This record gives sequence, C-alpha cells and structure tokens, in this order.
Amino acid sequence: MSTATHAPHSCPSATGLAALEQRLAQDLLYLGLPPRPWIAPSTCGNQPVLDVVIVGGGQAGLAAAVGLAHVGIQAVILDRAPTDFEGPWATTARMETLRSPKELVGPAMGQPALTFRAWFVAQFGTAAWDALDKIPRVQWMDYLRWFRRVTRVDVRNTTTVTQIVPRPDGLVRVEAETATGPSVLLARRVVLATGRDGLGGPAIPGFMQALPRHLWAHSSDPNDYALLKGLRVGVIGAGSSAMDSAATALEMGARSVDLLIRRKDLPRINKSKGSGVAGLTHGHHDLSDADKWQLRHYINSAQVPPPRGSTLRVSRHANAHFHLGCPVQEVHAEGNTVVVRTPKGKFEFDFLIVSTGFVIDWSRRPEFAAIAPHIHVWSQRYQPPADQHDQELADSPVLGPAFEFQEASPGTCPGLSKVHCFCYPATLSHGAVAGDIPNISDGARRLAAGIASHFYREDFSQHFAALQSYEEPELMGDEWVPAPALPAAETAMS
Ligand SMILES: Cc1cc2nc3c(=O)[nH]c(=O)nc-3n(C[C@H](O)[C@H](O)[C@H](O)COP(=O)(O)OP(=O)(O)OC[C@H]3O[C@@H](n4cnc5c(N)ncnc54)[C@H](O)[C@@H]3O)c2cc1C
Repeated sequence: MSTATHAPHSCPSATGLAALEQRLAQDLLYLGLPPRPWIAPSTCGNQPVLDVVIVGGGQAGLAAAVGLAHVGIQAVILDRAPTDFEGPWATTARMETLRSPKELVGPAMGQPALTFRAWFVAQFGTAAWDALDKIPRVQWMDYLRWFRRVTRVDVRNTTTVTQIVPRPDGLVRVEAETATGPSVLLARRVVLATGRDGLGGPAIPGFMQALPRHLWAHSSDPNDYALLKGLRVGVIGAGSSAMDSAATALEMGARSVDLLIRRKDLPRINKSKGSGVAGLTHGHHDLSDADKWQLRHYINSAQVPPPRGSTLRVSRHANAHFHLGCPVQEVHAEGNTVVVRTPKGKFEFDFLIVSTGFVIDWSRRPEFAAIAPHIHVWSQRYQPPADQHDQELADSPVLGPAFEFQEASPGTCPGLSKVHCFCYPATLSHGAVAGDIPNISDGARRLAAGIASHFYREDFSQHFAALQSYEEPELMGDEWVPAPALPAAETAMS
C-alpha cells in the first residue's frame, strides 16, 4: 500500500467498484492510514537497502505488505509468477469453488471495503450475494487482483528469488532472476510468503520413484487435463485436491477414474474448522510445546475431508470409482501402462495422479540453501509421546514471535532471524495464521507489528537523536503573560 495518503475524490455519482474504492480511500483517511514514514532510508555502499522484501505475492504476501504499510513500513514483493497469476487459484487449483465460507474476511486487514464481500456486492448487488453459495475459484483470484491494485502494493512479477543470504552486518542479500537478467537486492528483513509448499514441494510417495515421469503427475502440477480424454486414470488420495483432479479428468472425458484411498472411510468432520476460534488465533503461539503439538497432530491425523460439493462432482460420473481401504503396495510401468498393486487387486491405468499433499523439504528449494542447514526445527526442540509422531510437525521450523527463523546452533548463521517464515510451515509455531484465508489478516498484523518493533529497537539511538533534535513548537510563547512578582509581604506569608 502506498505510503501517501489518498484523499477521496468527491464524485457522488460513482457506482460499483469506483464507489467502493472511494469508500476505501475515505476509510483509510479517517483511520489515519498509512501513518507517516518513520524509518530513515539507508544505503550500503552505493546500494539502497530495502526495509522489507517479501518473497511471494499471493494472499499472504499481499496481506503482509498491507500490514507493514499500516505501521509505516514499505515492502517490495517479488514473485516468480507473471502478473495476476500468483498462487494456485488461476494456475494449478482445479476446484469449482473455495472451501471457505464466503463471509470470511481473508486479507482485508480490518478494512470492510477491502473484503471479498464488499468487492462482490459493489459489482453484483446484495441479491447476488445472498444467492451465492461458495466463492468461485477464479473469482477469488479476480478479487486478489483488484486487492493488489487498490492497495498499491509494490509487486515485482516474473522475479524468481534464487538465493537468500543473511550477512554478518545484519542485512540480507536477496538474489533473483528477473525478466531482464540477474539482480541483487539488500534488505533489512525478508519475509517468506511462499505458500502451502513454501519450504518444500509436493509429497511424492517412495513407490512412485520407478515410474517414468510422462505416466504420472502430482495434483499440484500444471498438468493439461485435456490430454486425459479417453484414458484410464488412477488417482491416489481422497483429499480436496484428489477430488478436484478426479473431477477435472472426468469432465475432460477420461474413460474412467479410479480413486485409490488408503482409509477404510473418508473423514467426515473438518477438525481444523472446528478449532477456529479467536482464542486459538491469538493464543496458539503462547501454548506450551506439548499443547501445540497435541492440537496440530490431532488435526493432522483426523485429516480434512474433501468438500461435499467436490466429492459429488466426482461421484455424479458413472465411470468414477471410489476404492476405500485400498493402499498402494507397488507401482510399475509395463510399456505405457501403469500397473498398481493393492490389497484389493491389480489396477491398470494410462495415467496416474498422486494427490498426497506437500512436505517440508529444503532440498527442493535451492533458494534457501544458505539458510536451511542452520534453521532450528521442532524435532530438535520437542520429543512428542510415541503415539503423536508427526513428520510434518517434526520438520516444521521453530519461529520467534514475529515468525523469525531461529538458529539451530546459536552463532552459526548470524542474521538468520532477519528472515521471517510467513507461510504454511509456520502453523505449528503460530497456528493457522500464515496462509489460509480465515486468519491471514491476524497473522499479517502480528508479523507487521513484530517487524516494526524490531526496527524501532534496532534504530533506537537514531530515533532518540531525532527526538532530541525535534523542534516543532506547539506553544509560541505568546499565549500567556507571566504574572508580575508578588509583593514581598505576601511572598513571606506563603
Ligand atoms: C488447490 C488449493 C486450494 C485451496 N483452497 C483453499 C480454501 O478454499 N480456503 C483456504 O482458506 N485455503 C485454501 N488453500 C490454502 C491456502 O489458502 C492457499 O494455498 C493460498 O494460496 C495460500 O496463500 P499464500 O499467499 O500463502 O501462497 P500462494 O498463494 O501459493 O503464493 C505464494 C507465492 O510465492 C511465489 N514464490 C514461491 N517461491 C518463490 C521464489 N523463490 N521466488 C519468487 N516467488 C516465489 C509463488 O509464485 C506464489 O505466487 C488452498 C490451497 C490449494 C493448493
């Protein structure tokens, strides 16, 4: 969000989005946002030093940039995706609608005029809002595109961050590949808003290693599903993305789709949704290690059910088959046929889709090679009871109160805590406030307030010196006349 204050233009006839944008400008004006800049620009040699670089311009990166602007800090966002194609919504996601209820405020950062609802009603009216069930996936992306435009965040697209190196002098070097070649930025703080797979990539089961790559895809791959027309397709998994992949394959004319589901039954209850109360949002970070682990492990092992609509989108096809209690035992190729062995028998497919989620895996993220070996992770901090083993939690980073990475061995990577983890793997440390729609604004506010506090403490002597030389008078000295001295007798009595 630009740090300049944008006074609303007086245009009473404005309607739709134009009127909403006026309302937003007025709300910000009334709230005194953004506040006046308070961080002195700095340089290193001849190079300017950016206050904050955010890697990732999805909803988390956008919310973080707005949160920072609201505390007077400018951020630059770098995203490898082309403009308007950040995140999964218009690229690899295949659901018809979001799972989230339409009323969630997402990245609105406390501004009613920045909500999806305001954006939707401004264009389509309240009757359409009442009639809307869930938010169509691509419409959510359209909203985020508008959000980016009206908040004026500085996003630099087609910029892939290739290395992040904290330096002993307290700055962080950010190397990137841009459309015009390599570039190097220096920043005081770096925020990783790199998404659901932000510290790794898709989880690929070991049994897939032998299968030639042209015979399978992960559900998060940008795969052309039109090529599945007429094919026998297998889908491993039964989460949301498995349903979305299966449904898309069926709609594209797959001859058959078989879902191979390890569990004997599909989970029915969304424990993650059930956990979502304001107390958890604000209290998770202060829970004991054991309580944090217990809660996240319970939610992980209950598994989130696929949405009802997504499941019906599959089951309405007669050529869709749900095989429950059907774990994969072995996979191999015979020519161009994928053979999958399970306790329920042998399956033959022309193409296999694995929908097995995401893992934290630093080896998939060369851009973090300089910091990865030094990051303190939960397996080094906490040993859970034997029945609560959870690899995702064990691999999660231990984070400070403003999502800062911590050194596994103090002194081995000075400056590591200048890098903040504002993506899904922050969940064990901070709760679900660093990616998903429901609480992304809460997380962004915590991040921004924490960074503001760091900057103020780091620059305290500068701020104190500025205070000492601050000379804006509020009284001119002409507002009063000193009373004449009292007569001597009265002075003696008092
Ligand atoms: C298919 C799918 C459906 C989902 N549906 C819902 C839902 O209904 N409700 C809900 O609450 N949550 C949902 N989620 C979870 C979550 O809301 C999304 O993952 C969301 O995109 C998270 O936003 P983000 O900003 O953290 O990450 P993203 O939107 O993924 O943005 C991360 C950005 O980082 C960029 N990036 C990564 N690495 C680099 C690099 N090295 N250099 C430059 N740029 C980089 C990427 O290009 C990307 O644009 C869904 C997730 C998926 C995958």
